[in-house]
Amino acid sequence: MKSMVSFIQNIPSISRDGFSAPKYSRFHDKTCIVTGGGRGIGAAIAYRLASEGYKVVIADIDREAGMYREKMLREKGYEATFVKTDVSRENDVVRLMDEVFSRYGSIDVLINNAGIGFSGKPLEEQSIDEWRRVIDVNLTGPYLCSKHAVKYMKKRGGVIINIASTRAFQSEPNTEPYSASKGGLIALTHALAISLAPYKIRVLAVSPGWIDTCEWQVPPCKSELTHLDHLQHPAGRVGKPEDVAALVAFLASDEAQWMTGVNIIIDGGITKKMIYIDEDVIENSIELLLQDRELAKLFRELLEHAKRNKESTKDILKRISIIN
Ligand code: NDP
Repeated sequence: MKSMVSFIQNIPSISRDGFSAPKYSRFHDKTCIVTGGGRGIGAAIAYRLASEGYKVVIADIDREAGMYREKMLREKGYEATFVKTDVSRENDVVRLMDEVFSRYGSIDVLINNAGIGFSGKPLEEQSIDEWRRVIDVNLTGPYLCSKHAVKYMKKRGGVIINIASTRAFQSEPNTEPYSASKGGLIALTHALAISLAPYKIRVLAVSPGWIDTCEWQVPPCKSELTHLDHLQHPAGRVGKPEDVAALVAFLASDEAQWMTGVNIIIDGGITKKMIYIDEDVIENSIELLLQDRELAKLFRELLEHAKRNKESTKDILKRISIIN
């Protein structure tokens, strides 16, 4: 009953004229932890939240990246602290949460972003140690961080955001540990959302697609993306860490107070693209790859001609002496 009363008090008030504009607070006097915040997507999230007024704690295993990002944020006039942390080690995580609370007096937002990829070895060559390391960092890490942050978050509610991946839903070959870790993270998200709802802790997952992190590396590097990389996305380009950071900033804010337990995909639309190989796709791909509209049209005509005459394209190319 008590929690129902406080829930009702949080609903935007209604004036005589209808709904009054809700007064949502953004990030004032709040503390946020970004795991893996030294570089890549986590660094852009740390920057965005710091610029919106958060006190930001960068919890990263990489000392050089963590120190670099702490310095960068402080030079901009933001409150930031680096705490060296391996999220897969429970002792490190407990120490992180204790240090943050004793320094800032609250833990309001936890961004479980630290993650590692996988080498791409074929299944039979994957060792159990490689499987365990990916699961330990990408899944056990967020579990441990959430578990030990909640002790402090419970005091005034909070938000946990897990950075998953579209790889939770679709795969390239030989990515079993990574895909499984991200699928598990999405399930962990809804489990935590239900367990922690009574404490006014919201839990969400964000699944990015292809994000080019070059500009947020330590030191920043030059992007090597091609025209084709960008154009295959319905949104017309590969993603940037800032795209993910903007979504995270919204989800962490009170404006998203009616959202919990769900996963949001942010991928420039690529996972919504139906892929059937037909003459259209081939023509467009040739044009995209070779930047030659005439050649793409000719190749399409060749395919259609072969289809009509029940010939293979190879036989036609042989007949007109293009190949031996
Ligand atoms: P980066 O490798 O650029 O940055 C990750 C940071 O996390 C690094 O500083 C890394 O340190 C640190 N880290 C690694 N292991 C640990 C650990 N055990 N404890 C604490 N920190 C650790 O990664 P991205 O920015 O590319 O990815 C960030 C997250 O987004 C990951 O969870 C990833 O799976 C996810 N993601 C990324 C996508 C992309 O296209 N980039 C797409 C979809 C999801 P170190 O340098 O030592 O490794």
